[in-house]
Amino acid sequence: MRPQCTDKFVGAILAGWRYDISGIAPEMRGDYEQHFRECEHCRYWRKLHRTIDVALIILTAISAGVFLLAFGVIHHFEPRHAVLLELAALAGFALSALIWVIVAVATPAPLVMADAARLGARAVHDRLPPEIRQRIPEELRLKISGQ
Ligand SMILES: [Zn+2]
Repeated sequence: MRPQCTDKFVGAILAGWRYDISGIAPEMRGDYEQHFRECEHCRYWRKLHRTIDVALIILTAISAGVFLLAFGVIHHFEPRHAVLLELAALAGFALSALIWVIVAVATPAPLVMADAARLGARAVHDRLPPEIRQRIPEELRLKISGQ
């Protein structure tokens, strides 16, 4: 059995936002962040939603790439009905790109990915030898360490 939400009222609000509080002013986030700390149910759903968002953005990017590749292949080899096939490939590319933009704008996926990128950069940074680390500009170092 999955744990129930510890506060149905807050849980319902969070569900309405797809468990995304990144759009809320920081000073108003306190209660919701507190709830995420206490409520395993909402933490689980937040993670699931973000996973779906990121998966969608990656899938649509791959899909757009494949359609573009298909267009290139058709254009190069010019089979019969090349124009029709090219149009189909372009339509597929346009649709994938459109969905990608919608996902990127409507969900916090870009924020999640930026976060993941920063964590990855930090992990690499921490493993660098000190003499190389010293050469990284101060500004960039602060950005990576998230302060
Ligand atoms: Zn909850």
